[in-house]
Amino acid sequence: MHTKKELDQRLILAGVRPLKSLGQNFLVNPRIGTEIVKAVEKFSPKFVVEIGPGLGALTDELIQSASENSYKFNLVEIDSGLVEYWKKRDFPGQIFHGDALKIDWAVMSRQSPSVLVSNLPYSIAASLVVELSSSPQPFFDALVFMFQKEVAQRITARPGDEDYGMLSVVAQVAWKIDRLVDAGPQDFSPVPNVGSRVLVFGNRIAMNAFSSEFLSFVKLAFSQRRKKLLSNLSARYEKASISKALLDIGFEDGIRAQELSSEQFTQLFTSLERGTSHKKR
Ligand code: SAM
Repeated sequence: MHTKKELDQRLILAGVRPLKSLGQNFLVNPRIGTEIVKAVEKFSPKFVVEIGPGLGALTDELIQSASENSYKFNLVEIDSGLVEYWKKRDFPGQIFHGDALKIDWAVMSRQSPSVLVSNLPYSIAASLVVELSSSPQPFFDALVFMFQKEVAQRITARPGDEDYGMLSVVAQVAWKIDRLVDAGPQDFSPVPNVGSRVLVFGNRIAMNAFSSEFLSFVKLAFSQRRKKLLSNLSARYEKASISKALLDIGFEDGIRAQELSSEQFTQLFTSLERGTSHKKR
């Protein structure tokens, strides 16, 4: 856990410069780092992976926590300079050099409960949440992620909110999501333009509805936000079946996707898939 001064020393030691293209805004507020590590510990993990250790704002404390609480701790880092840094420091777990969006998590020998933690680079945040939320079998039991505030707001938005959409539905169907702490631009170096928020995802639900079909169903539902849900879904299902399925959950034909809760999306999907209402596949 380090301050700006300590980070600057590490940058010199490691011989690296923060890369904007990799979202390298390093955390320099130890209080927030400690809160994140405590949130990980609450799950009593046996297996923890951190994406993007950077220069260790979370990693050092997690190494100590792993040793005190006897859990396995691995890293995934895309930047070769930073991978070298952790190898030189004799990081006690496995280090995977690569893109967290492309990694096959199954290569790691997981134990449960498993937690994935990260101060996420902006460019991968939304895609990673969609991926981890829509896999039929959850690889991680919990996630502790720092996001740009705007992305966190999209994830936790409620029906009717302006930023409620595909990301909110997919994440909320899969997890119980709690807000942990907010961070301001000054809590990072280099200082970003935006604020950040840490969310904790627990109670991962493994259900049959979780399939690429469900994901494409939600995408289709939100494909044209101004249009009625019935109209968007009619590309895949018969209109009469959609009307009936909507009525079953208490909605008229005029409803828009952004007014349905994540539970109602699941009900609608299940009911349409159960029927024989497919137009085309
Ligand atoms: N954990 C450190 C901290 O809090 O100061 C660094 C966080 S920094 C916001 C993001 C980290 O993710 C950097 O170490 C960066 O190199 C790494 N990173 C960026 N894109 C990545 C990707 N696609 N896969 C894995 N790591 C990535």
